[in-house]
Amino acid sequence: MMESNKSSQAYPMKGGDGVSSYTNNSSYQKSLAEVVMSLIGEAIANKLDVQSFVGGHPFLIADLGCSIGPNTFIAVKNIINSVQLKYQTLKITPTPEFQVFFNDHASNDFNTLFKTLPSDKHYYAAGVPGSFYARLFPRSSFHLIYSSFALHWLSKVPGEVMERGSPAWNKGRVHYGGAEEEVVMAYKQQYERDMHGFLNARAEEVVCGGLVVVLVPGRPNEVPHSKCIGNVLFEILGCCLLEMAKEGKINEETVDHLNLPIYYASPQELEEIVNKNGYFTIDRMEGLPHIAEPETKHAATRLALGIRVGVEAIFKGHLEEETIDELFDSYSKKLEQVPSAYSSGGASIMFAVFRRNDKCY
Ligand code: SAH
Repeated sequence: MMESNKSSQAYPMKGGDGVSSYTNNSSYQKSLAEVVMSLIGEAIANKLDVQSFVGGHPFLIADLGCSIGPNTFIAVKNIINSVQLKYQTLKITPTPEFQVFFNDHASNDFNTLFKTLPSDKHYYAAGVPGSFYARLFPRSSFHLIYSSFALHWLSKVPGEVMERGSPAWNKGRVHYGGAEEEVVMAYKQQYERDMHGFLNARAEEVVCGGLVVVLVPGRPNEVPHSKCIGNVLFEILGCCLLEMAKEGKINEETVDHLNLPIYYASPQELEEIVNKNGYFTIDRMEGLPHIAEPETKHAATRLALGIRVGVEAIFKGHLEEETIDELFDSYSKKLEQVPSAYSSGGASIMFAVFRRNDKCY
């Protein structure tokens, strides 16, 4: 079987603060993070068991897949405000000191992240490199772990989709949207393996009564993979690449080898995995409505740039810079012609709160 030579693959967002950086192309994620602020506040107010971890110890928070800001800073500030409010409401004194661990792959632009740390922050900051699909922290040490727009990234492309001759070989596509059932299954199974890795690691790290709060793009239960907006968008990107191959601008094999390690799970799929894992109780799980981009020419260009920021690191391993420019140029034009691809309702952002129960390791 042809496997990647790396067990885990890292494709960080574009760093720095330039026009095409993640910082300047993540306003969609930001608008959603703002929508969920009140939901996170509610989860902390109603579900976080602070009584069981008072005693002068610092309150430990981690943001997994934090990228380079500013979204992570907004989320962390909101979490800390909500925890402080809870301590005040319960009249527990003193309120704890906070330590925040910002996690991402080692190749993330941590320099930009730390250079832009808010000067008025009320916490001690630390960076933690490494994949969140494995252990990152000591046992029973964390009170709240947050992750937004990161858990749809698989640890790697499932090996069989790149294996010529396998029933799951994903020829002529870069993702599983519109692909054979075997390809979809290979992605689904990789997602399940990864989520178990994630939950097992967090189960060891999070204290009993602590929370894992997740915001992740997904697929509504009733929407088939082929109609999920994320899948449709990648299918169109794959078509643009294939057209370039037909015009002889790139090798068709490049398209066969290029696969995006991204999976859009439904709330039902995630629920089944969390229940099977057993270490967490689902306190809340819901799909937030898709915030549609208005149908303007500008919207297509912005969307194409937003997607480029996310996947460019992967494409760079296969294509020249000018080819990537040309690809995203034609992608943006294609999106203009099919605005329904990004303004329809087949997408959902999942918001979930999992509480560490007392099941022992
Ligand atoms: N949380 C931020 C950034 C989302 S971008 C926000 O909501 O705006 C997704 C980030 O997840 C990227 O920086 C990427 O490098 C990181 N990521 C993806 N897979 C990861 C993994 N296995 N371990 C750690 N970070 C990961």
